[in-house]
Amino acid sequence: MPVINSIADRKDEIAAWRQELHRNAQTKYEEVYAGDLIAKKLEEWGIPHTRGFAKTGIVATIEGQKTDSGKAIALRADMDALDIQERTGLPYASCNEGKMHACGHDGHMASLLGATKYLNETKNFNGKVHLIFQPAEEGGSGADKMIEEGLFKKFPCNYVFGFHNWPTLPVGTINMRVGGIMASVDEFEIIVKGKGGHAAMPENTIDPIVIASQIVIALQTIVSRTVSPIDTAVVSVTNMNAGTGAFNVIPGSARLHGTVRTFSNDVRHKIKERMESIVGNISKAFDSTIEIDYIFQTEPTVNTADGIAIAAKAAALVVGEKNVDTNCLPTMGGEDFGAFLIEKPGAFVFIGQGVANDPHCHSSMGLHHPNYDFNDEILPIGSSYFAALAETYMPLET
Ligand SMILES: [Zn+2]
Ligand SMILES: [Zn+2]
Repeated sequence: MPVINSIADRKDEIAAWRQELHRNAQTKYEEVYAGDLIAKKLEEWGIPHTRGFAKTGIVATIEGQKTDSGKAIALRADMDALDIQERTGLPYASCNEGKMHACGHDGHMASLLGATKYLNETKNFNGKVHLIFQPAEEGGSGADKMIEEGLFKKFPCNYVFGFHNWPTLPVGTINMRVGGIMASVDEFEIIVKGKGGHAAMPENTIDPIVIASQIVIALQTIVSRTVSPIDTAVVSVTNMNAGTGAFNVIPGSARLHGTVRTFSNDVRHKIKERMESIVGNISKAFDSTIEIDYIFQTEPTVNTADGIAIAAKAAALVVGEKNVDTNCLPTMGGEDFGAFLIEKPGAFVFIGQGVANDPHCHSSMGLHHPNYDFNDEILPIGSSYFAALAETYMPLET
């Protein structure tokens, strides 16, 4: 099968759901419209489900024709939009001012709904499939919240799978890799407290700008001198604020703000420790007081080898083996699916949605761009991939 035929036949119906979700974009923990639409479909199809998981999330369960394998998998779609003013000009553009599905989570939900309808009709598997509709992926830690509320205790499973549409990959391709595929996302804030005064009499001040500058330079040595060259990490200072605007005043404090990205929790903790040590020692050297707040935000998304083996098989069934890259490059971008992969083995993959030779079309625009749009052509691929995971891992006939 290239894509599952009965799903391909239903492309227009799935695209209509997607466009309705797009038009009614809502951001983290406010995805009420999406929740209502999904719950309405689940009720229509007679699928048992729980609402109110992490406020607006939903979990539904489909049992196969047989369940004696004792196996279960979870398939996840994220639900939230972004605080972006849409500029696509499409007929189904967001009707909510300043809210936009610019990351394609509308397409992830529609793909999972398409798979849900198919799996519920065919039940061509031996086991259970849990369908996770997760709120607040964009900086809201929705995955962690669902886990805290007992997601995997209430819905035990052997594996968890998810995907992200990928504009720089062409339609008809699926990329994945064992190990880290998306980075952890952390934030840090450093407040340097010195002593302000007249710029002409620096000997009477403790200049926080000079101290903050030393810190910026010293932080650059973390990746080059502390992290092993075999590992990958980023430390970026993205804001440096100090001063009143006056040319002749040394301010009393300065603020640095930035992000750290890694693919492993070991490296992540090593960077935090090194950062605290650098800041503490510079503080002492310059007789200042420095506060550092390191905020762990999003886990790295680390695929397991057995999860990728299942994902690769399912992906090859849908787009053909030659169109599946099982050793793709990772990205330093983040995704909260990593929280699920700390609890359960599984895989997070990228499904291509770019259109070759047309870099300006909406589907080829970068994620979070105001002209971006999910490509409805890949809905049958997304739905078929989800369905194939269930049928591949839990075949009816063994
Ligand atoms: Zn995003
Ligand atoms: Zn996203």
